[in-house]
Amino acid sequence: MKYYLIKCTNKLDNGFGGTAQGPLIKILSKYKDDTGLIEHEKTHVRQWYAVLGLGLLLCTLLTLLVAPSLWPLYGLAPFSHQLLYKFVRPYRCWCEVQAYRKQIAVGGYTGTTFAVTALVEKYDLGLSTNKAGALLIG
Ligand SMILES: [Zn+2]
Repeated sequence: MKYYLIKCTNKLDNGFGGTAQGPLIKILSKYKDDTGLIEHEKTHVRQWYAVLGLGLLLCTLLTLLVAPSLWPLYGLAPFSHQLLYKFVRPYRCWCEVQAYRKQIAVGGYTGTTFAVTALVEKYDLGLSTNKAGALLIG
């Protein structure tokens, strides 16, 4: 089952080659055949589904066990991944490390320097080059 949609575009913000918002992936046209980048973004889509599922479960537990009037919280579930990604640095770091590990594993690249550089410079993670490299190795 295909769980994502890919849209090619000629412009993305902030110098990224691809982005994922919910199940929608946007890829710069020049990277449309970059298997590694597509797998990177698919990793973010799977993260979104996982957090959506956990959010819906949490909302169900809250409305059943705490108060039925909490049902409007269901409206936040689709945005949980984006909110955590934006405001919780350790979560953002975990998301990107997982995505870059997958990208490196399937991308057929000659090195990992691009991923280390991205983790250090692009995501406000506060990582050193050594720490970013160590996280990618796992
Ligand atoms: Zn990413």
